[in-house]
Amino acid sequence: MSIEFSDEFDFENRIVDNTELPGDVPEGENPLRPKTLDDYIGQETVKENLRIFIDAAKQRGETLDHVLLYGPPGLGKTTLSAIIANELGVSVRITSGPAIEKPGDLASILTNLNQGDVLFVDEIHRLSRAVEEILYPSMEDFAIDIITGKGQMAASYHLPLPKFTLVGATTRAGQLTAPLRDRFGVVLRLELYTPEELSRIVMRSAGILGVEIEPDGALEIASRSRGTPRIANRLLKRVRDFAQVMSDGVITVETARTALERLGVDEIGLDSNDRRMLKAIVNFYNGGPVGLETLAAAIGEEAVTIEDVYEPYLLQIGFLSRTPRGRCITAAACEHLGLNFPSGTRAQAQPSLFND
Ligand code: ADP
Repeated sequence: MSIEFSDEFDFENRIVDNTELPGDVPEGENPLRPKTLDDYIGQETVKENLRIFIDAAKQRGETLDHVLLYGPPGLGKTTLSAIIANELGVSVRITSGPAIEKPGDLASILTNLNQGDVLFVDEIHRLSRAVEEILYPSMEDFAIDIITGKGQMAASYHLPLPKFTLVGATTRAGQLTAPLRDRFGVVLRLELYTPEELSRIVMRSAGILGVEIEPDGALEIASRSRGTPRIANRLLKRVRDFAQVMSDGVITVETARTALERLGVDEIGLDSNDRRMLKAIVNFYNGGPVGLETLAAAIGEEAVTIEDVYEPYLLQIGFLSRTPRGRCITAAACEHLGLNFPSGTRAQAQPSLFND
């Protein structure tokens, strides 16, 4: 079944999208990215652990063990990889799984690293098998075997590499192959941020951007940012425009509220796309369970986008639950949307984001 939605259904310019959109990051270096662990707000357990591992590696004069960071987009994985390099006093090279197409691409990246450098690979679950095959020995033995030529002309070279730290990032730890996952000594999961933590991030970003903001205004933006710093920073920039026109450039709670309502972001951070997806589950699937692919086809969206962009927050706030037979809406979501909770729904609160 396909559903017709009005023009309001706007996937392209979704302001509460947690993936990077044009305009999020200015040309050159992003000034909003914290550079040290002390500046990195929230994720206390991750920070405490990293600090110990970094200090220990520095004291021993060794490279840091390989680190895997996982969690939804926009929570600060790339930022953390640059901080790790900074704290270690080394350089970081940033790339991503899909960008490394051939084993030769990886070989050229690895041979150009300096001793101790950090190699950040975003979306590491999207590496091809062939590339993964040469990543294993380079992570373990810091060497790669390259074969050139064919038949009788074939020759094999054993190429030693500088010792490096691989920092892998993924939105889905479950999709990593077991041999790759096992080669990371440190595995850290990033959690969605609390409104208080996001409010501190908004205050810090406002300071860097030179925007005057009242604490209540920051908390209002934070509460609508779906637990995600990338969204908080984006909303801050948009609210700043309203404040300029409405309240002499100062972001007050009223300006923030008015601006975000105009932008279609409600008091808990849902936009028209979330509301329509949730309503589709109620109106067309009697509250669920509905399979991910079916739901994706019904609302004209990619299944991975639903999983990475929409769901983490909706699961976290208890608006959706994941069952083996599909997604279900919860009574809390129906109450928020002003809908009757369908009696047949098998929705149960879902404790974890990542147990597929
Ligand atoms: P990811 O790699 O997980 O998608 P990024 O590292 O690109 O996320 O972070 C997105 C933006 O959010 C960054 O530009 C940075 O400004 C901001 N950010 C992320 N985490 C924090 C944090 N803990 N404190 C302050 N700002 C943060």
